[in-house]
Amino acid sequence: MDGASIDREIEELAPAMLDFAKRLIAYPSVEQQGEPGEPFGKPAAEVLDCFLREAESLGFTTVNDEAYAGHAEWSGGNRLVGALVHLDVVPEGSGWTKHRAFEPVIEDGQLYGRGSVDDKGPAAATLYALAALRRVGMQPKATIRLIAGCNEESGWRCVHHYFQRYPRPAYAFSPDGVFPIVVAEKGILDVRVTVPRTAEGGELHLIAAGGGTAANVVADRAWAEVAGDPQALEEAAQRLEHGDFPGVAATLQQGRLQLRATGVGAHAMQPHKGINAIVRLARAAAILPVGESEAQLFTFVRDRIGEQTDGSLLGIACSDEASGALTVNLGQLWTSPEQIGFSLNIRYPVSLTAAVLEERLHAALASLGGQIHFEDNAPHAVDPNSPLVNQLAAAYEKVVGQPAERLAIGGGTYARAAGNAVAFGPIFPWRAPLDHEPEEHIAVEDLIACAKIYARGLAMLADEGLS
Ligand SMILES: [Zn+2]
Repeated sequence: MDGASIDREIEELAPAMLDFAKRLIAYPSVEQQGEPGEPFGKPAAEVLDCFLREAESLGFTTVNDEAYAGHAEWSGGNRLVGALVHLDVVPEGSGWTKHRAFEPVIEDGQLYGRGSVDDKGPAAATLYALAALRRVGMQPKATIRLIAGCNEESGWRCVHHYFQRYPRPAYAFSPDGVFPIVVAEKGILDVRVTVPRTAEGGELHLIAAGGGTAANVVADRAWAEVAGDPQALEEAAQRLEHGDFPGVAATLQQGRLQLRATGVGAHAMQPHKGINAIVRLARAAAILPVGESEAQLFTFVRDRIGEQTDGSLLGIACSDEASGALTVNLGQLWTSPEQIGFSLNIRYPVSLTAAVLEERLHAALASLGGQIHFEDNAPHAVDPNSPLVNQLAAAYEKVVGQPAERLAIGGGTYARAAGNAVAFGPIFPWRAPLDHEPEEHIAVEDLIACAKIYARGLAMLADEGLS
């Protein structure tokens, strides 16, 4: 078996692969309320079924793990190698002006649709990579499983369920990150801080405040509404107007002072690319004489979180060579009649532990006197010179003709659920990441290159010498 004949098969299979990717994209497999037999809703169960039927038609045996996940298998020896893909997607969101999220089309050499990059296009490329290996007559020395999950974007209950019933592969990759090859994924700590509201101490009354859409997105909007003595409101409005509060508009109307802050959204793993609207709001709101605990919280956000996204003001800044620097994103602010709170999404280097980080955060947040809730997703790293990494790197270099740099990312992929696994593509270094964005699309030539790389990678992991 040689690389050139694999490439020929993939070129020949490309129209069928693209057609299959389009069929997958047409399912709006965003997580929905579960039903018996459909834990993440009907479209997620249906897209898994579609995937497994295609695998069967290509000659593989399949398992459906109660619609949580499934796999396509090519039996070889006892050793298990694999790839992990996901078939659920994030919601359509706004901004699809030229194309529709769930009506895939190929236009100017690009495949458009929600999931074209993340992760249905790569799922199709990986399945067809296996199909090409079959057609060139490979006899795998290991058993190869292509594992597909249906809840990657919102909880990972798919792979947790699956790995309770089926073993982890000895070697695996997930085509759900970037090329060349991701050897470290930072830890992800979600922090939720809730403080009781006190009416005392304030001339003005904070009616409500809010901001952000999710912990893992930089807040692009935030607001607050304040009532109270007309004289005090007027003074507050004057101070806001004459102060230096970029991105904040204050309006006094019908006895209420409204603050609206605008920022720029970004993914929480690169918070420096955005501008946090909640921090902007807090800078302005901190000068208002509202209740003591509320004023304290706004001051804290201004002084201890601020515009720095490296955690330096919180005393948690750190970095390591393997995975880079810690990042902090203030994702959400909320109030209820009794409480005010915010959530942080922290991506920490692989050499740090959540326990150490939580201790430092407890110390930093103690002055607020609230409740702190942590949810940790531990970091993941593999040896950048392990056989797994070296073989996949060689597959990449053969197809792309450029050295496969080992990368660290702040995102989390199935690689961390699989153990000895790495994220491997599908976004080439010279492409902009379009996952989760409106008008999501991937170049057809990239999908074909992915299939060539994945076929070589899987063949090498299954211990099949390649010429
Ligand atoms: Zn993904």
